[in-house]
Amino acid sequence: MDGKKIDYDTLKKRGFLQEKEEGLFTLRTRMPAGNYDSSHLEKLSEIADEYARGMVHLTVRQGIEVPFIKYEDIDKIEAEINKAGITAGISGPRLRATTACPGNNWCKRGLVDTFTLFDRIENEKGIKCAMDLPHKFKIVVSGCPNMCTRAEVSEIGIHGAVDINHPEKRTGYAVYLGGCGGRAPRTGFKLSKVYTEDEVLDIIEKVVKFFKENAKSRQRLALLIEEIGRDNFLKAIGEEAE
Ligand code: SF4
Repeated sequence: MDGKKIDYDTLKKRGFLQEKEEGLFTLRTRMPAGNYDSSHLEKLSEIADEYARGMVHLTVRQGIEVPFIKYEDIDKIEAEINKAGITAGISGPRLRATTACPGNNWCKRGLVDTFTLFDRIENEKGIKCAMDLPHKFKIVVSGCPNMCTRAEVSEIGIHGAVDINHPEKRTGYAVYLGGCGGRAPRTGFKLSKVYTEDEVLDIIEKVVKFFKENAKSRQRLALLIEEIGRDNFLKAIGEEAE
């Protein structure tokens, strides 16, 4: 460090989080739908060996952290990860990395293609990790009702489901809204239907927009819903609870 004042908030947005020891940072990455190929892992392994202490840590939201990075190495590391196609993870009042289990890509219980839904959320709807919002906001996708990504305790939790009311017993998506963890955890409530992929994308878009426009700073969706009332929230997004 050369005596310059460190802008910790900007570094956080770039994926470098201040550690408890002065001058040390943790690189946090995000894995799209929990997936990396071997070249990404090799690059992170190289960075851990060359710039840090040779260890990595897996986050609970499908990212990798490389701790013990020196401030003066951050720009070089950022250039290397960008070149390798590795995206930085984030923290703070933003959309967190959307997490997904494998779904029917290889899990034998998977009913839906979780990776395709993830891709459509990010690239078709533009609801991408790091979007600025009033507070942290989490979306999770599971391939079946086992809900391995814990749909009921995230702002938006989605899981593959069979629509038993459909004449062909169609496969679609169940949706939970308004859950969260943290110091004031809440269990989300389930919407009334099993939705198509297009319908579930529209619900995600409506809920994120509603949250962005109506939540106070540092107010999670669960607390916003409690403040305005669940019925008013459902009316605003045009949905019904189970
Ligand atoms: S939620 Fe279902 S599809 Fe996803 S990993 Fe768990 S069991 Fe497999």
